[in-house]
Amino acid sequence: MGFKQRLSRFAARHLANRWLPLNKGRGVVSFSFDDVPASACHQGAMLLELYQARGTFYVCGSLTDGIEQNQVCHSVVDLQRLLENGHEIGCHTYSHTNCANASSGFLLEDWERNLAFFRQHGITHHGFAFPFGAYDLGSKLAASKRFSYNRITGGGTQTVRADLSALRAQSLYSASSNMDALGALIKHTATEGGWLILYTHEVSETPGPWGATPALLEAALQAATQEGCQLLPVHRAIDFFLS
Ligand SMILES: [Zn+2]
Repeated sequence: MGFKQRLSRFAARHLANRWLPLNKGRGVVSFSFDDVPASACHQGAMLLELYQARGTFYVCGSLTDGIEQNQVCHSVVDLQRLLENGHEIGCHTYSHTNCANASSGFLLEDWERNLAFFRQHGITHHGFAFPFGAYDLGSKLAASKRFSYNRITGGGTQTVRADLSALRAQSLYSASSNMDALGALIKHTATEGGWLILYTHEVSETPGPWGATPALLEAALQAATQEGCQLLPVHRAIDFFLS
């Protein structure tokens, strides 16, 4: 990576922050699903509900009724049912675009297209997740103006404070997640009164590299419950930390 790119990445990470204090003395774990395969709406949501939890689903309108990575994607009815059951819908661009490489004109148009898709189907939504966790200073600033919060990837948990312009999230992938490490992360979140946001894609007995088995999702739900964390969708977690 060249100097200019390193500088740009540093600026994106350290500028334009909007800090949310995490000082409620109780940890929160949020479960999120990107791109929203149909299995996340069915199997994923069902498991969350079993633990009195609700999740956040980051939707690209261009994937609705489509197929991505060999996974059948959500339908509009799936999204409406998620909302009825108290889950959160968020924006993930319309075309699943890499925001770090896109012009601001393109991004504003693409976001508007996704929000128009939500409006057309009466889908209320909060927040935004950068596809691929990719952002730069320009897209971080633009997304901060447009959305109440932005989620990135980046891994780990958040303690003391969280940047609403770039909320970190930890992958929950069967191919690469280690339940011991995840358990330790959840314990740390509980002890520090922090906020851990997990993200995955499909929930399947035979997931691809970016999905989780029902067993892994349930193990994370169980660990978070046992540690006394609150299980909240991202926008409700923000309300909790602001209250
Ligand atoms: Zn995505």
